Amino acid sequence: MSTERTPVPITVAYGDGIGPEIMDASLRVLKAAGAAIAEEVIEIGEAVYLKGNTAGIEPDSWESLRRTKVFYKAPITTPQGGGYKSMNVTVRKSLGMFANVRPCASMHPFIATKHPGMDVVIVRENEEDLYAGIEHRQTDEVFQCLKLFSRPGTERIIRYAFEYAKANGRKKVTCFSKDNIMKLTDGLYHKIFDEVAKEYPEIENEHWIIDIGAAKLAANPNQFDVVVMANLYGDILSDVAAEITGSVGLGSSANIGEYCSMFEAIHGSAPRRAGQNVANPTGLLLAGVQMMVHIGQPDVAEKVHNAWLKTIEDGVHTYDIYTEGESAKKVSTSEFADAIIERLGQTPTRLKPAHYDKSTGAPAIPAAKRLPAAQKDLVGVDVFVHWAHQNPDELAEIMKKAESEGALELAMISNRGTKVWPNGMPETFKTDHWRCRFMFEGRGNRGAVAELMTRLVREGVDFIKTEHLYEFDGEPGYSLGQGQ
Ligand code: NAD
Repeated sequence: MSTERTPVPITVAYGDGIGPEIMDASLRVLKAAGAAIAEEVIEIGEAVYLKGNTAGIEPDSWESLRRTKVFYKAPITTPQGGGYKSMNVTVRKSLGMFANVRPCASMHPFIATKHPGMDVVIVRENEEDLYAGIEHRQTDEVFQCLKLFSRPGTERIIRYAFEYAKANGRKKVTCFSKDNIMKLTDGLYHKIFDEVAKEYPEIENEHWIIDIGAAKLAANPNQFDVVVMANLYGDILSDVAAEITGSVGLGSSANIGEYCSMFEAIHGSAPRRAGQNVANPTGLLLAGVQMMVHIGQPDVAEKVHNAWLKTIEDGVHTYDIYTEGESAKKVSTSEFADAIIERLGQTPTRLKPAHYDKSTGAPAIPAAKRLPAAQKDLVGVDVFVHWAHQNPDELAEIMKKAESEGALELAMISNRGTKVWPNGMPETFKTDHWRCRFMFEGRGNRGAVAELMTRLVREGVDFIKTEHLYEFDGEPGYSLGQGQ
């Protein structure tokens, strides 16, 4: 029985704005359902930021997170003005929470939605991609942001999506990527998806190019079950998916890692509703349901989720989901929690009851796997140049002066990825940011690249960065220029 369990220590943050009210309501419901938890409360958010801590979290709080490994977090307010780092991103990345899991289910006909029957879980990669935050301004005209995908990171999130599907009785995993354009990064994603899918023959799998996949998700979400995608795509589409279930205000999310996991609502601190006892605690409560599964108390998760479904079904609604004529009663935050507590032990009759499998419980967390190193050969170098003129033939002449006969020769110049030399088209728009590709005849070495750079300095070339071109086990580790 859940009451005989040893309480599991969890770190709790009440947050800002409506945070304290919805955390209070959520913890009350979880405990009434028999959650065996022992809370360590930490302070995060606005007050911490305003004390001058730009990360929004203090050293003692990190210690608590490391100790309990479970973080139940209410929304926080980020103070206006620059200089404050996102506490969420810092916590997720510092503690290795690689997977963001966001269930999005419609509550038709009790909460208005265009998509009755929608029941999708978005699994989003949480640490890599453009969120590595490595950005540079390189010329007057051009800025860049590095999109980083690692093989272990990609494999891990895809494997987690299949493990999640397995643990939750889900039938299909869909992958969204843009591998028709980004053949190396998104191509890796699709390739690993196909490899990992083979290990889960009992689960259907499919891949969609993200643009058409996103359109299908918005127009006909019922055809999807679990959808896995990279960080930026997942950030955008998980909000779309939550919104089309009826309200972002109902959404919960789990940030899962090997060492620590965080459970939170997807909405913010709604400062204008703070202190009025009106906010809907659902997002945070359902995050608590995900947390109970994670800490091995799926029976409590099931009890709370079903009582919540019954409350929604009985028309007991907070202001944000209340509809005149359809809802039975408009209630406050605390009354909503009371109504759920009264229904603990009941299951919904019209909505599909929640079921958390007591045998499988939380999905296995795959380790990040490393492959043996490949044979890596240097075959060329891309030299990026800041050059304010427009004629690529002139630039080619300058760059060719730095060639070394028979060893490192200029092969191509592109501008914003489109080949402009040799045989470029005059219509191609050109910025002041040029990529000059030099290729070795056969295999090269870094010393020869350094010598090339010395010659370029002599020619007065304003090079801004280089990218080495490698082959890995004979496979090119670089893309071709558009039109090359
Ligand atoms: P918000 O999600 O706080 O509010 C948007 C709207 O949704 C508001 O009109 C609010 O009335 C309504 N709303 C949100 N949650 C609700 C609930 N539980 N019940 C009823 N209505 C609800 O977004 P915002 O106004 O853009 O941001 C406010 C603050 O929250 C900002 O400081 C922002 O940085 C922060 N924020 C924090 C998190 C987080 O901690 N994870 C996430 C998003 C935003």
